[in-house]
Amino acid sequence: MRKLIIRATVICLLCCCGTLAAPRTLDVYFIDVEGGAATLIVTPTGQSLLIDAGFPGDRDAARIAHVAREVDGLKQINHCVITHWHRDHVGGVAALSKLIPIRNFYDHGVPQTIAADMQVENIEAYKLTTQGKSVTLTPGNEIKLQNLRKSLLPLNVRVIAAGGVVLGERSATPQIRQCGEDFQSKPEDTSDNANSIGILLTFGRFKFFDGGDLTWNVENRLACPKNIVGPVDVYQVDHHGVDSSNNPVLVRALDPRVAVIDSGPRKGAEAGTFATLSKLAGIEAIYQLHRNLRTPDRDNTTVAYIANEEEQCQGDFILLSVEPDGKSYKVSIPAKHFSRRFETR
Ligand SMILES: [Zn+2]
Repeated sequence: MRKLIIRATVICLLCCCGTLAAPRTLDVYFIDVEGGAATLIVTPTGQSLLIDAGFPGDRDAARIAHVAREVDGLKQINHCVITHWHRDHVGGVAALSKLIPIRNFYDHGVPQTIAADMQVENIEAYKLTTQGKSVTLTPGNEIKLQNLRKSLLPLNVRVIAAGGVVLGERSATPQIRQCGEDFQSKPEDTSDNANSIGILLTFGRFKFFDGGDLTWNVENRLACPKNIVGPVDVYQVDHHGVDSSNNPVLVRALDPRVAVIDSGPRKGAEAGTFATLSKLAGIEAIYQLHRNLRTPDRDNTTVAYIANEEEQCQGDFILLSVEPDGKSYKVSIPAKHFSRRFETR
């Protein structure tokens, strides 16, 4: 009798666990905010992390909330990182928080004085939304996204750069440090882009890097003297793919297989960056949220890999889905019914 009960319990446990453990992919939505940034990460256990929240106003908040609630089925956003204080990143926070609850906020430090490249109304709206309770991230910090469960592949979200400081460094200054034979510095970037948070997500063997709007001189310090991030599978191209970022020294160090450019119709996905990416020996695909209408077709990726081809668009997103074992992933443009599978490196 006792044996029977034990056996029944074991069978029941197996059944229950079977349903609970239905393998889910790790999903990364590159939401179209037309030249801003909004990257929504949803783990296999349904924990969510939004990196940047698009421009102020209703359009971007509505697009992010739509993807979070209707497409993914989220009830809340657990974590929200604002990489830096420019309006195309922090602007959407207040409106979005009215559409879906956001639980925890992270940034590189709320500014005490408003610099010329920030808008006071966006900073104030952020402070109101977070009720002054955001966490300041520094290099080396981790954001805990899911409880450790033996059956799940390890998932790690690590801060690589923040406040102008790169992992392993003590100070943000000087910004320009001569390193490497190929490095030609650009004039010091005094904007908040240089302070951007950069994040490396690791899921088993799979690696994804989102460097926010980091710029040329800081990017060089990520790659020299040490390749801090190392090779990745997917690279969210820095700063919407503008040429004042995407220093080839860093892009070559990241050596991505897939690049995703969160560009707008007239912002980002510039020809120099496109050339840098195209020249990588190991690159397999370049995706763009928007066709760059200012450059000819030869400086844009293949049409199938562009989510939004026209200026008047529906704001279609790009979806990266990593298999539960981390060994392969799919990148798709659902609105185009186009998807392609890649092997993790
Ligand atoms: Zn930006």
